[in-house]
Amino acid sequence: MSQRLKIKALLQSQQTEIDVTVKGWVRAFRSNRFIALNDGSTNNNIQIVVDFENTDATLLKRITTGAAISVTGKLIASQGKGQTVEVIAADIEILGDSDPEKYPIQPKKHSLEFLRENAHLRFRTNTFGAIFRVRNTLAFAVHQFFQERGFVYLHTPVITQSDAEGAGEAFHVTNFDLNNVPKTDTGEVDFKQDFFGTATNLTVSGQLEGELGAMALSDVYTFGPTFRAENSNTTRHLAEFWMIEPEVAFNNLTDNMDLAEDMLKYVIKYALDKNADDIEFLTQRLTEEEKQKPQNERSDMSLLEKLQFCLTHDFERLTYTEAIEILKESTPNKKKKFVYPIEGWGTDLQSEHERYLVEKHFKKPVILTDYPKEIKAFYMRQNDDGKTVGAMDILFPGIGEIIGGSQREERLDKLEQRMDEMGIPKDELWWYLDTRRFGTCPHAGFGLGFERLVLFVTGMGNIRDVIPFPRFPKNAEF
Ligand code: ATP
Ligand code: MN
Repeated sequence: MSQRLKIKALLQSQQTEIDVTVKGWVRAFRSNRFIALNDGSTNNNIQIVVDFENTDATLLKRITTGAAISVTGKLIASQGKGQTVEVIAADIEILGDSDPEKYPIQPKKHSLEFLRENAHLRFRTNTFGAIFRVRNTLAFAVHQFFQERGFVYLHTPVITQSDAEGAGEAFHVTNFDLNNVPKTDTGEVDFKQDFFGTATNLTVSGQLEGELGAMALSDVYTFGPTFRAENSNTTRHLAEFWMIEPEVAFNNLTDNMDLAEDMLKYVIKYALDKNADDIEFLTQRLTEEEKQKPQNERSDMSLLEKLQFCLTHDFERLTYTEAIEILKESTPNKKKKFVYPIEGWGTDLQSEHERYLVEKHFKKPVILTDYPKEIKAFYMRQNDDGKTVGAMDILFPGIGEIIGGSQREERLDKLEQRMDEMGIPKDELWWYLDTRRFGTCPHAGFGLGFERLVLFVTGMGNIRDVIPFPRFPKNAEF
């Protein structure tokens, strides 16, 4: 038996008339003659031609959609259209039978909802094969980008002591017997008896620890799982997602924006080059899907065009204050089309506002800076106006916020004053404040939600479809 070759390599083979072995799963078998075989190395199937007159009838019956098979035969230039090469089977071995009556993934179009309920099998569809190959490439590209620039990949803890921003969205971590939780004399949960001797939770961000690393290593990034118990059943939120958080000593807000824009462009370009076939497939998928929508809701650019557009245009940079002026004067605001009307300066922007700016007004990615301090975290650097902080959010078409970041408040007195105002416990964060005591310096960083990036690059509409096994309210299956 010749050595197994992946289908991707076979389809690109310059040589024909050679003996090959190929293994994979049957996508379809038609006319007892043509097997469409896929092994996940590419979206394209290889065609296996079966000599059915000389093949055992019981074996033929076992070649069903979903079965795993091994085929040895000759690779030849294809006679038919739709493929350049095909394999004339000399020997077919069934490695694992499937049950055509019960196998959920039939060679037809399934709804994304149906596939979500069958997430253990959805990798076997063209759409999910493409999504997870693109996701893989993007993850690799993120590392490559930072590694090329001398960043240190820092692993920040998954279990942390406090929900530092006080957002109250953290999952508790405990090994208490939940039916018999130790209480103090005053009836409160006695965390002193818990595993860590204190209340702990799953991390909502690695930033604060990242800052500690940056104060010695200069340029660091984290890339790890992040957890938020936000009960938001949206197409952009997961309870478990992956976040990329660079933190850079001596960077100001402009450096921070440049870094974020460069990174996004780098990884998108990387995926366009490496996964051209997959993105081509996903582009067609989205175009088909858009045809179902009314004309005025369709995008005027294809997925591929959107990605290329993003590479070739500078992101629009403006302040929150400027954005509020645009939104106030906008047609949907005047016609009372926003669910949350823009009344004045100071309120947080909703996704409908973010999307208006990106999709209708500027028609390109937007970076908003200098938000009111009241709606941003305590660690953001206070501007001289006394009202705003050096924050930056990057907004993408179809997604809204993809990155949130800031220059950090490096001045101890200003930081402590803000923590007092916002009721952030300084004693718990003594270690964070120490960086401002010993060799503090200007620095900046941001958080990129990895799945929101994958959403953008794959053109998918729901964040639950771009992570292999999504966690969201009332679901932790698989
Ligand atoms: P949003 O307003 O969209 O909920 P956020 O302000 O809570 O975002 P940050 O705390 O700044 O977001 O987190 C940084 C990035 O992490 C966001 O820009 C986004 O890309 C991503 N992110 C935040 N929450 C989630 C979530 N629940 N699921 C997936 N990605 C998320
Ligand atoms: Mn949020």
